[in-house]
Amino acid sequence: MSIQHVPENLPERIQHFIGGEFVDSLDGGTFDVIEPVSNQTYREASAGKQADIDRAVAVAQQAFEEGPWPGMLPRERARILNRIADIVETRNERLAELETFDTGLPITQALGQANRAAENFRFFADLIVAQADDTYKVPSKQVNYVNRKPKGVAGLITPWNTPFMLESWKLAPALASGCAVVLKPAEFTPLSAGLWPEIFREAGVPDGVFNLVNGIGEEAGDALVKHEDVRLISFTGESATGSLIFANAAPTLKGLSMELGGKSPAVVFADADLDAAIDSTVFGVFSLNGERCTAGSRILVERSIYDEFVRRYVERAKNVKVGDPHDPATEVGALVHPEHYAKVTEYIEIGKTEATLAVGGGRPPGLESGNYVQPTVFVDVPPTARIFQEEIFGPVVAITPFDTDEEALRLANDVKYGLAAYVWTTNLERAHNVGQRIDAGMVWLNSHNVRDLRTPFGGVKASGLGHEGGYRSLDFYSDQQAMHISLTPAHTPKFGA
Ligand code: NAD
Repeated sequence: MSIQHVPENLPERIQHFIGGEFVDSLDGGTFDVIEPVSNQTYREASAGKQADIDRAVAVAQQAFEEGPWPGMLPRERARILNRIADIVETRNERLAELETFDTGLPITQALGQANRAAENFRFFADLIVAQADDTYKVPSKQVNYVNRKPKGVAGLITPWNTPFMLESWKLAPALASGCAVVLKPAEFTPLSAGLWPEIFREAGVPDGVFNLVNGIGEEAGDALVKHEDVRLISFTGESATGSLIFANAAPTLKGLSMELGGKSPAVVFADADLDAAIDSTVFGVFSLNGERCTAGSRILVERSIYDEFVRRYVERAKNVKVGDPHDPATEVGALVHPEHYAKVTEYIEIGKTEATLAVGGGRPPGLESGNYVQPTVFVDVPPTARIFQEEIFGPVVAITPFDTDEEALRLANDVKYGLAAYVWTTNLERAHNVGQRIDAGMVWLNSHNVRDLRTPFGGVKASGLGHEGGYRSLDFYSDQQAMHISLTPAHTPKFGA
């Protein structure tokens, strides 16, 4: 199959951006980038290695130590961040076109990502201007205050699902705090990150403050993690990669923020508004192709409504429109890469041996090539099943019945992950009691995933370490130095007097 819908004006090669210039790898190395509808290579990207990371970190370090960025007044940096937001918003259509082409996300879901990304910059612009740090008084004795300082060079490592938006989630607080950054985007989807250099230049970010190195995780990512001048790593990706990064960062004692995988439960009680719960749980696992960290990929349903729920859910899943991601009618597009497609379809085969397949189960009829998977629903899934326990990261859902609140909680918590959870009930007391006892970093009551940027973001257990969101993100990217001022002569024991 030939490549279609190729966006106009693609760069000849997807390059690094270091010190204000687009550059190749020092050894000239590249890797192939494919698009997920034809699985053909559409471009080569520069494959960053240790030497390229060294170069980018040195430039970032210099910009941090000698450039104006870290010492600017918050208002000055905020003005630039707001300009970034303005520019990002105007590129919504271009961004959607690039994301859909590179990731296989349906175009209607890719549209709007630029607005989310812009909002991240606007939000952190507001936050740094409003930022107040603590001062403490010990009457007549001491005054203490906090001197907040940007940490230095931040390493940002991001995944391939909604890549531009997730990059903005790290870039905005890192830059707002005054750090210089080296971004290593996911190798499956490096295209949209190439929009940042122009955006930052137009907005007035000084050269060297933002650097981008493409490459394979085990090479470019690994070199960034192990670099001794990189003060922190903000990572979003799989839990297994997160553990490895944790170990690899230990010798250089870096700050780490880890946003990892999930297997989030949606708990539907018999007293729930069933129409709303079905809309939300269908959307919750099939939107963004199911390639969504907070996907509600396990649905736990109270037994008295189980049969009705399953019947209605399966009807809806059957009708979800899979197809060309560029078609505005498409609801589920093509999975990002053949390797990921193989992983998802393997889980579907495993699921067939573990539970009852109610709908889907493979490639949709009529779509003989491309990484297409039918929305797949397994029912009566036992909690020991791998499809109940493990993150699939595709349009596949496991439905399991429960009898009591305690059993629902046990099932919800019986996995290694703890990113998000969704609770559906019209009983206010139960909603709060069950929600608060679920081991998840984020819980939504009678809603799918809609988040105020001030709230904590992150998971517990294998889903992450360290919460970002609001001021927590600024804390992660800055050191808070304690300054102590004595108001009286110091009474020091006179050793050796
Ligand atoms: P991944 O872990 O394979 O890769 C993520 C990034 O890490 C990529 O840029 C990759 O190149 C890099 N990387 C890989 N090995 C590395 C190494 N040894 N050292 C340094 N960097 C390395 O994840 P993915 O497949 O790109 O993304 C999907 C995963 O991300 C899913 O598990 C999903 O749940 C998770 N995710 C989590 C959140 C969250 O906020 N919790 C958000 C989105 C995605």
